[in-house]
Amino acid sequence: MQGAQIQQEIQQLKVDLVKAVRMLERARILDMNGHLSSRAPGDDRFYINARSASRASLTVQDITCCNLDGDALAGETEPPSEVHIHAAIYRRRPEVNAVIHSHPHWQTVLGIAGQTMQPVYSIGAFAGNCPVFEKSSLVNTPEMAEELAQVLGNRCMVEIRHHGNVLVGPGIREVFVASIYLEENAKKQYHASLLNPNFHVLSGENLQRTRETNWTPSIVQKAWHYHEEKARLAGIFNDMWE
Ligand SMILES: [Zn+2]
Repeated sequence: MQGAQIQQEIQQLKVDLVKAVRMLERARILDMNGHLSSRAPGDDRFYINARSASRASLTVQDITCCNLDGDALAGETEPPSEVHIHAAIYRRRPEVNAVIHSHPHWQTVLGIAGQTMQPVYSIGAFAGNCPVFEKSSLVNTPEMAEELAQVLGNRCMVEIRHHGNVLVGPGIREVFVASIYLEENAKKQYHASLLNPNFHVLSGENLQRTRETNWTPSIVQKAWHYHEEKARLAGIFNDMWE
């Protein structure tokens, strides 16, 4: 790729990253903590929201660039203490270009209650068979992050019991949309289980078809666009360039 094209892609990546972090904060997927990263195009580096920058008012200046050891490059701001999660996954999974670690309420509640998340809701139906990492403290060392990445294996998410989860995917927009609808799936499961402990779970051919028809590139793009426009109209991006 030519230098100018790479610069343009990096700028677009940073804009998407800032928008996604702000929208996830509004959706209560992120709070004062949590982080989203994206692998740099054609390079062994990744971009991540800085440790001390507020997730509610993140700007492109608040993104830090790290190498695959999780170290910030010279002159960059400090990354989150759990940056090792991202580094370990990028080292092991070359096809993964975006990683999110968050503390989503409904998914965490299900885990605390010992309930495994099941595919119960259309676009969130990719849920299920999620491995669980039982060490609930901060994943703030390379060793712990390696362990977590091993438990994740080749799946798209891992639950960290009493803590949150880690979700991986091919790009920022995909992990953003997956985060939103996974939490929606968990919320629906929670409420359904109150009404009936033997709630219905999607299965067999019905599950297969639901997954295939509800998770396509055009639906991911439509979902991103919907949330992006809603956020824009609510003024969430107003001071993004300051
Ligand atoms: Zn955490």
